[in-house]
Formats: sequence, structure tokens, C-alpha cells
Amino acid sequence: MRLPVAFKLDSPRWIPQMPADTLIRQVLRPIWTAAKHIFFKPYTYKYPYEEVPTLPAENYRFDPKQGFAYPGFKGRHLLILEKCTGCSLCDIACQNISEAITMVYAFDISLEVEEKHYNDFTAGKGSLPEFFEKLLEGVSGPLLEPGSVAGGSHPLQGFVADLKRVSRADGRVRISLNIDAVWEHNVGTFYNNYLDDSFDALTERGWSFNIIEDKFPDAITYEASKDGCTVRISVQKRDLKYPQNKKSYLPQVDYGRCVFCGFCVDACPFYALEMTPDVELSSISRQGLVYNPFMLAGKKVSTNPPSTNPIDAIYGWLRAKLGQ
Ligand code: SF4
Ligand code: SF4
Repeated sequence: MRLPVAFKLDSPRWIPQMPADTLIRQVLRPIWTAAKHIFFKPYTYKYPYEEVPTLPAENYRFDPKQGFAYPGFKGRHLLILEKCTGCSLCDIACQNISEAITMVYAFDISLEVEEKHYNDFTAGKGSLPEFFEKLLEGVSGPLLEPGSVAGGSHPLQGFVADLKRVSRADGRVRISLNIDAVWEHNVGTFYNNYLDDSFDALTERGWSFNIIEDKFPDAITYEASKDGCTVRISVQKRDLKYPQNKKSYLPQVDYGRCVFCGFCVDACPFYALEMTPDVELSSISRQGLVYNPFMLAGKKVSTNPPSTNPIDAIYGWLRAKLGQ
């Protein structure tokens, strides 16, 4: 094979001796072709530090009257709370796919004690400090705001000082344990997820428990007692006041199970479900993949990590400014 580049015997081997047209065609033109790409818009994006703009901006929607779907990306769901009737058809549609949807109520949990016992408790005396400590070991993560139980001579000092949670009437003190709604399928799943272990630990310490009111699946009241001290624990469904959904029954999606097929959207007869182009759903915990109805109704929940590299940040800023 004849090589286009000829080398003179007396010249260093790294200096090619070639005709001008060969030099232009085979050396300078490729260099120019490569060099001019410096000024072109790159085809790649520094994901996750830059948003990927090529995803379709439209939500996947289905029109049950017309019987056709609008084109759109099948990412995270959008739940339109004002349209959802709680009919559960999305849940039924998903049951043969991945059982990612659970219909849930918003629950509140509160405690009620006699004022004299509560006063003993705030002084760190009596049986109640032990009761609160064990109860909150089971529920503190999901129910309480971070830091609300921190510090003090007993684990609840910070919590007790939060007067928004404490109200007094007729010689009794009522304490709300949660501020945000706790989403559960019914009071039975609430008990399994938040109370079971705490009640077991308290039973071992001599507390006895009775159910004094059972309105399954909406509400239940337990009474715990030891040494003449009684505590009422009430789990109560929250009324979200949606006129089309009097039971306040809404879907929750587990993205650890969802396969993004869109069948739930197709099944909703009330135009209450869509799928958005939001694909950033990563979480470092299993529970973080479960999106409750308020999360589904909210705007994009981005899991983009912030850039920690200043050069990347400057580069991204320049590209955004120059439209490159
Ligand atoms: S998109 Fe997800 S939640 Fe909806 S039916 Fe398919 S698997 Fe179930
Ligand atoms: S999202 Fe639609 S199908 Fe699902 S419960 Fe609400 S109204 Fe029914």
C-alpha cells in the first residue's frame, strides 16, 4: 500500500513531507473541522447539573369521553385534587399492573390526659414521661417535625413547649402529635405502621390498652392506663373539604413499584390524573419513593443534586446566558 505521506531519509521522522493538496485535505481540513465544533451548541447536557430540555413539555392525558390520549411524557403523576372524587378506579386499574396506587385518608393523631397528670409530666414526674418516650420512639420520624423533641431533662421538653400543639379544656389537656397529615389506608394500617411497636413496649412496662371507640376505617380511640394515670390516643381522619370528594379519599403512588404505563390515567373518568415530564424521582430511602396526594398535586419535586463544582456552575450559567 502506498502511503500518502513521504518521509525524507535525512529529516526527522515526525516532520511529514507531503504535497500541499494532501496537507490541506488530510491534515488541515480535519483540524479545522474539529476546531469549529468549539463554537457549536453541544448535543450533550451535563445531567443532572443541567436540565434536559428535549423532553416533551406536555403532560400525558386521557380523554375518557373522546376515548383518546393526548401525546405527552409519562413521568411523575399530577393529581388534580379539585377533580378527584375518590372513586378508586385508578387504584383498580393499577392492581393488575404493579399495585403502586393505594387509596389513602389524611389522619391526625392526638393525646388527651388529665391536667394534673400533664403538670406532673412537664415537671418530669409520674408515669407520663415514660409513656411519651416510648410512644414517640415509634412515631417520631414520620409524625413530628425535626427537632421538636430535642433537648431538655426528658425527651419531650421541646415538644411540650410547642404551645401550638397543646390545648386545655375542662381540666384535660389535648396534644396534637402531627402538623402535616399522615396518609394511611385506614386506622388499621395506621396502627401497624406507627403504634404497634410502641404499644408492645409500653405493655411490657405495665401499661394496659383498651379500644374505647372504633369507627373503622375513619377513626379509633385507645385508652392506655397505669398507676391511676390514663391517656387517650385518638386517630382521626381529617376532612379535607373537597365538595366532590366528601370522604377525602385520595390516591397515593409508590414509585418503587410504578412502571409508568399510564393505565391509571386512562382509567380516571374525572380528568383528575395526568402524567408529567418529571422523571427525577430518586430517593435515598424506600419511603421517599411514596408520593402522598399532596405531593402528587404539587409542582415538580426535583431531586437534582446541586452542582458542587464552580467550573461546572460557571459553564452552565454561560450556556444558559448565551443560549448555547
Ligand atoms: S402508571 Fe404506575 S400507578 Fe399508574 S397504572 Fe401504571 S404502574 Fe400503576
Ligand atoms: S384520580 Fe381519578 S380514578 Fe383515581 S380516585 Fe381520583 S377520580 Fe377516581
